[in-house]
Amino acid sequence: MNWITKFIKPKIKSLFKKRFSDNKEALWTTCECKNLIYKDELFSNLSVCPSCGFHHKLNCEERFKIFFDNKQYEILQTPLPKDDPLNFPKYTEKLKQSREKTKQSDAILIADGKLDNIRITVGAQNFNFIGGAVGAASGEAFIHGVQHAINNRTPFIFFSCSGGQKMQEGAIALMQMTRTVLAVNELKKNNLPYIVVMTNPTTGGVSASFATLGDILIGEPKSVIAFAGRRVIQNTVKEELPEDFQTAEFVKDHGGIDLVVERKYLRSTISTLLSILLKKKEVRNISETNDVTNLNETLQKTSKAV
Ligand SMILES: [Zn+2]
Repeated sequence: MNWITKFIKPKIKSLFKKRFSDNKEALWTTCECKNLIYKDELFSNLSVCPSCGFHHKLNCEERFKIFFDNKQYEILQTPLPKDDPLNFPKYTEKLKQSREKTKQSDAILIADGKLDNIRITVGAQNFNFIGGAVGAASGEAFIHGVQHAINNRTPFIFFSCSGGQKMQEGAIALMQMTRTVLAVNELKKNNLPYIVVMTNPTTGGVSASFATLGDILIGEPKSVIAFAGRRVIQNTVKEELPEDFQTAEFVKDHGGIDLVVERKYLRSTISTLLSILLKKKEVRNISETNDVTNLNETLQKTSKAV
């Protein structure tokens, strides 16, 4: 610890804490551990706090940059359905603000690139876009990502980060749960690996649909992984819940996910998993037809049957 960390940091923290945390352009940011961190230091550490190891949220592009080989990837154009189908109060305004803030048209981005030279399709949710909530646009983006993976025979990796479905889109948002599940089903029929990395938080309809259907489920340390919130459960069961309830570690110990992996090991872990899964799939592919699934047709057929 030098004089800067001993004296300057705490001084700045006490004097300007609020101002710094509100200012996007600030050079410093705060962490859960109440430490003041130099933003460059945080980014060079993959946005993991050097003091307490807290994994700060990443937006989609930040996630892609640290995950793909040589920060190289191509963002795919995904379909954008009509905004605000139910004329929900102030929703159009909220969408506009989120688009300006995140430079994304909706919460999910899909990208194509390589991981240790294995071609992959990757999806990620941006929590800054209305809490990563899923509506028609996110549903379409996810399905487009799956279709891209099927067309190009690549594994599909998804980084979930969401509070659930968009209340502003009502039943249309809830329908995305079934649609995304059916899409994942097609991915599996095509023998393509699907790996989900649950980041903080993965809750609500997302944890109750596509996020928990991966061949391998990975959680980032201390991420909240849940369906209903802690308070709702506590008030229902009328029992004191453990301190670490609904953390990735707790969920792993209770069989909900397979692994808890620190951000710095995600690339190497997923690369190893893919090399194993792809070898197995190759053997199976020899005896199976490689007809490319058209997801839209499948989804239409299924909804007619329902
Ligand atoms: Zn910290």
